[in-house]
Amino acid sequence: MSYSDLEYEIFSRQFILKNFSENNIEKLEHFKVCIIGVGGIGCPLTQYLISSGLKNITLFDGDRIEKTNLGRQILYSIDDVGKFKSVTAKKRLLKTNPNSEITAYSEDLTTDNINSLLRYDIVIDTSDSWYTSKLINKFCTHNSLKFIFSSAVNYNIQICLFKNTGNHICLNCLFPNDEDIEQARCETVGISSVCAGIAGLITAQKTINTILDIKDESNLLTLINTENLSINNIILKNNKDCVLNNS
Ligand SMILES: [Zn+2]
Repeated sequence: MSYSDLEYEIFSRQFILKNFSENNIEKLEHFKVCIIGVGGIGCPLTQYLISSGLKNITLFDGDRIEKTNLGRQILYSIDDVGKFKSVTAKKRLLKTNPNSEITAYSEDLTTDNINSLLRYDIVIDTSDSWYTSKLINKFCTHNSLKFIFSSAVNYNIQICLFKNTGNHICLNCLFPNDEDIEQARCETVGISSVCAGIAGLITAQKTINTILDIKDESNLLTLINTENLSINNIILKNNKDCVLNNS
């Protein structure tokens, strides 16, 4: 499998950039991404990954589209209300690149289907569910899978890539308290539409930086306030008390 003439035309303006060498274009073409949640972050994230030339994308989301989603979940329209997000997103994304290989699962990620994550090069969590984030973190830690945690609430974004090789650093090192499961969610405290969009785009850039070896994003927590446009990158350290350390 290689990019068709049509795809080379679609991505031509990007492929002339120096980061898109023949070798890197090949990496982009074969890289397999799994995205958990096609909501406020997942919509712009998947759109820009497909628009950047990624072809192998799997989506997990058991939710159906609601009117309250339309303010930020840009892949959906009013006619889609009631339909499954994953299936609708797939249809929309194929309109950008009909040759991409998108798999849509209309189900949430649980302990029953989590083993399927083993077949991907990177797992990206945009679920807005602490239970799901912690489940994925544990699985990715144990199986040395690259994992990006991406969350946005109110005007605040938190994104981090955990490489899960070498020195142990994981989401649980950062948020060890099980009570975090009760933390604020978009549903309860609100979310700025622009904030969700920026979170999706920053997550897309971190993914591309990782695939093309542009920048080592591992263990770097990016914190953004989209109201005052402040950005901080914090280098994470191993938490020796993390229950997943050496487990
Ligand atoms: Zn840890």
